[in-house]
Amino acid sequence: MVRDQIIKRGISNPLVIRAMEKVPRHMFVSEGSIHRAYDDTPLPIGCDQTISQPYIVAYMTQALRLVGGEKVLEIGTGSGYQAAVLAEIAREVYTVERIEKLAKQAEKNLSSLGYKNVHVRVGDGTLGLEEFSPYDAIIVTAGGPKIPDPLIKQLKVGGSLVMPVGEYRYGQTLVRITKGVNNKINREELVDVLFVPLIGEQGWKR
Ligand code: SAM
Repeated sequence: MVRDQIIKRGISNPLVIRAMEKVPRHMFVSEGSIHRAYDDTPLPIGCDQTISQPYIVAYMTQALRLVGGEKVLEIGTGSGYQAAVLAEIAREVYTVERIEKLAKQAEKNLSSLGYKNVHVRVGDGTLGLEEFSPYDAIIVTAGGPKIPDPLIKQLKVGGSLVMPVGEYRYGQTLVRITKGVNNKINREELVDVLFVPLIGEQGWKR
């Protein structure tokens, strides 16, 4: 998976490659999908949600420009796989999931692998997680109509936020914003992606 899907497609950050090599994706997929765990595709995880394609997980992780030791916020825990990849690089990972059943399963997956630096919360991630803010980096793994203001507020100066943004529920562009001095926001459009909708107060309606 890492050689053919990640490195051959241009992911070059050694921290990301090492993290992708380390995290066992088969521990995060549902039982019926275990035989496809290392396939080049998203997979269903129940509740109409998906674990993202491995390449996209690597791409988004690299786009955050982590160097190690950061405090990261993820919105959209899903299976917990992306959180585990982040936890291999960052110091602490806070991750918010709106569907309690998925959050519980993700917590189970993560604790069975011994991750102590991932903290799973249930809630509307479009509001962020103010309690532990500000964050060095924020990653949103569901697609919304715009970057929620609370997330921009909770990002540290110098930090990056990566999120799929699009005017339709299905089909987005991956956007990276970087917060500069005087809270000046630099916005870049990276690549077209297809994520499940971000549902919440600052996202799509249910
Ligand atoms: N990162 C996940 C993984 O590694 O398995 C995949 C995430 S899946 C593509 C998107 C997730 O975002 C779903 O689990 C969905 O329930 C969640 N989600 C959607 N809207 C949300 C919100 N407002 N707050 C938190 N989670 C949300």
